[in-house]
Amino acid sequence: MPLQFYNTLTRRLEEFVPLHEGRVGMYVCGPTIYATPHIGNMRTFFFADVLHRYLEYRGYEVKFVMNLTDVDGKTIGGALRQGVSLQEYTEPFARLLFENLDALGVERADVYPRATHYVPQMVELIRRLEERGLAYKADGSVYFDISEFPEYGKLSRVDVSAGRRGERVAADEYEKGDVRDFALWKAAKPEDERVGAVWDTPWGPGRPGWHIECSVMSMSELGETFDIHGGGVDLIFPHHEDEIAQSEGATGRPFARYWLHSEFLLMGGEKMAKSLGNVYSLQDLLERGVRGSSVRYLFLTAHYRSKLNFTFEALAASAEAVRRLRNTRDRLRSHAAVLHPDPRDTPRLQETAARALGAFRAAMDDDLNTSVALSAVWELARDVNARLDELGRSPITEAERDVALEALERIDGVLGLLSLADREQAVDPELSAWVEERVAARQQARRERDFARADAIRAELAERGVVVEDTPAGPRWAIST
Ligand SMILES: [Zn+2]
Repeated sequence: MPLQFYNTLTRRLEEFVPLHEGRVGMYVCGPTIYATPHIGNMRTFFFADVLHRYLEYRGYEVKFVMNLTDVDGKTIGGALRQGVSLQEYTEPFARLLFENLDALGVERADVYPRATHYVPQMVELIRRLEERGLAYKADGSVYFDISEFPEYGKLSRVDVSAGRRGERVAADEYEKGDVRDFALWKAAKPEDERVGAVWDTPWGPGRPGWHIECSVMSMSELGETFDIHGGGVDLIFPHHEDEIAQSEGATGRPFARYWLHSEFLLMGGEKMAKSLGNVYSLQDLLERGVRGSSVRYLFLTAHYRSKLNFTFEALAASAEAVRRLRNTRDRLRSHAAVLHPDPRDTPRLQETAARALGAFRAAMDDDLNTSVALSAVWELARDVNARLDELGRSPITEAERDVALEALERIDGVLGLLSLADREQAVDPELSAWVEERVAARQQARRERDFARADAIRAELAERGVVVEDTPAGPRWAIST
C-alpha cells in the first residue's frame, strides 16, 4: 500500500507523490512567540514531528521548515506593555519554545525562519501582486483584492458569494463570515514605531500582515511549489486560504500540494479557554511531575485528525504504558542470548518482528494512524515478553534477540517514546557508580554463599529502583521506573 495523506485541499485521502523523487519539502506554521505555547499548540508541533520522522523512516530526504512569527499584533502588544523592543520581547519566548519542544522529544526542523528576517522578500511578493492587479493601496496599507482571484476559498470552502466583496479587513485573524480583502502590508502606527516594528517600503513605512509572512518564508526556503504544508485546523481560514491566494496569485503556480491539519485538543472534554481556567502549558505539566514521554504517548493514542481529550487519568495510563514498553526493551536488551542455538528451534522473534514492522508501516502509511501503529508495537512487546518468560525450554538466540530489539528501536525512531524516556531517566554517574559497587558486593556474597547478604543487597538496590537480573554472562542491571 502506498503512503497516503488526507489532503484538506481535496478533502480526500491521496497517495503521496513528492514533486522531486526521494525528496520532500514541508512547511508547518509555527507559533507566534509572544507567550508560552499551550499544550494544544504543542500537539500541532508533535504532529509535525511524527510526520517529519515518518517521511524519513520511509526513506525520503526531508527539508522541514517551521517558522516563528516574531512580528504581529500580539508580539507588538506584548513589547509595548513591557516597554522593550520587539526583539527583546520575543527572544525569551523563542528559547522557551525550544525547551518545550525538547521536553516533548521533538526533533529539530532544518530551518526556523523568523518573519522579521524576510521583510525584503515580502515587499517583493507584494510588488508582484500589485503588478498582476491583485493588490491595491488604501490608507497607507496594501490589501489583497479577492475579487481578482477566482480560486479564493478553495481550501476552506468559505462561501465567497456571501462575503462582503470590496470591503476590507485589517485584522490578522477573522471569522469565516468575514470574507473580505485582507491586509498584505499595514501602515505604521505609533506603537509599531515604539517597539521597532517598522520598515520602509514603496508604500510608506509599515509592517507585514501575518499571512504574507508564511507565504514568503515557505517559498523562500522550499521554492514556489512544494510538497506539504501543515498546521492546526484553526489556521485553515483565513491564514492558509490567504497564503494560497497570495502565493498562487503572485507566481501563477500551485503553492503547497498537500495540506495536512491537526485537530484541537480538549481539556477534560472542553475546549481550552482562559475563561474556563483549563489552559495548560507543557511547562505547567512538567512542574506537576508529568513526563514529556507520557504526553507524547497520549498524543499518539489519537489520530491527528481527531479531537483528543486530555485528562490526568489518561496521562497516568500513558506513563504506565511507556514504563512497560521500556521494561520490555530493557529485558530484551539485558538478556544474554544463546550463541549456539539448537538448529531445530524456530527463530520465532524474527517472524514477530517482521510482522510488527509490516503492521507499523501499514498503519502509518494510512494517513499516519498512530493509534493502530501503537497496537503493532504492543503485539511485538507481548510476544517478546512471552518468549522471555518461556526461557528454560527454548532459549532466545542472539540473532532473534537482535532482530526484535532492532524492530523496537526502528519503530521508536518514529514514535520517539523510548529515546525520550531514556533521556528523562538518564542515570546520574554517582548513582551508576554506587550501583556498580553494590552489584559487585552482591556477587562477592554469592560466591561466598552468603545468600542472606546477597538478598539484602538486592533489596537495597530495589529500593532505589534498580533491578538486577542474573544471566549466564553475569549480572545485568537496569533502572525500573
Ligand atoms: Zn503560517
